[in-house]
Amino acid sequence: MTQPQIHQFPCLKDNYGVLVHDADGGVTLSIDAPDAAAVTRALDERGWRLTHILVTHHHADHTAGIAALKAETHCTVIGPRGEAQRIPCLDVAVGEPDVLPLGSVSVRVLDTPGHTIGHVTYWIEKAGVAFVGDTLFAMGCGRVLEGTAEMMWGSLVKIAALPGETLVYCGHEYTVSNAKFGISIEPENALLQQRLKDAEATRAAGAATLPTRIDLERETNVFLRVDRQDLRERLGLSSAPDWKVFADLRERKNRF
Ligand code: ZN
Ligand code: FE
Repeated sequence: MTQPQIHQFPCLKDNYGVLVHDADGGVTLSIDAPDAAAVTRALDERGWRLTHILVTHHHADHTAGIAALKAETHCTVIGPRGEAQRIPCLDVAVGEPDVLPLGSVSVRVLDTPGHTIGHVTYWIEKAGVAFVGDTLFAMGCGRVLEGTAEMMWGSLVKIAALPGETLVYCGHEYTVSNAKFGISIEPENALLQQRLKDAEATRAAGAATLPTRIDLERETNVFLRVDRQDLRERLGLSSAPDWKVFADLRERKNRF
């Protein structure tokens, strides 16, 4: 089986759209639909025909393009069961442990609530890619808007446990500001310092810092490193449960 082709493109202010094209199976998936015009342009550039939209969560910057794309292409709209009422034109509601056979790719659904209450992640194990929406970002994570910090922590642990070489596609380009926050917490982390330099150079060249990789995130994403004793001591939370250290870090990032 040939691997699906993946095309990521910037849209709106700092969102990314992603297309997954499986020529063998004759399917093209759009991960979320931030902006119909941008998705259509990306499809046209490649000569791909949209067959499915995979929605990670209900926020407008991930769903605003659904209705227009559906009207234009009659694609199937797949999204989280926990937010079915809040996603326009939804055809198929999914959740863990669903596995979606789409063309020749099989997409696994993981429940990753916290940013929103029904947020899901789509994982194509065979292609080594995961689409995490606004749960994990490069060196950061999404805000906890609807769920609890403990819930969000559980979602991050689940994503961090994917195979190390998994490429992670995130909803937003927040990498530079996340790296700066991370360094404020873990200034001695040399790899984190290096990633900030790399990300700044990448952004200065007008390119995307994403996708990231699970193994890199484990080394440089402070939100995934709350079990480290040095970090806990610095925060004054030596013996707190991991999710509480996470909650503290998330609060600090909100104020950063
Ligand atoms: Zn969001
Ligand atoms: Fe978003």
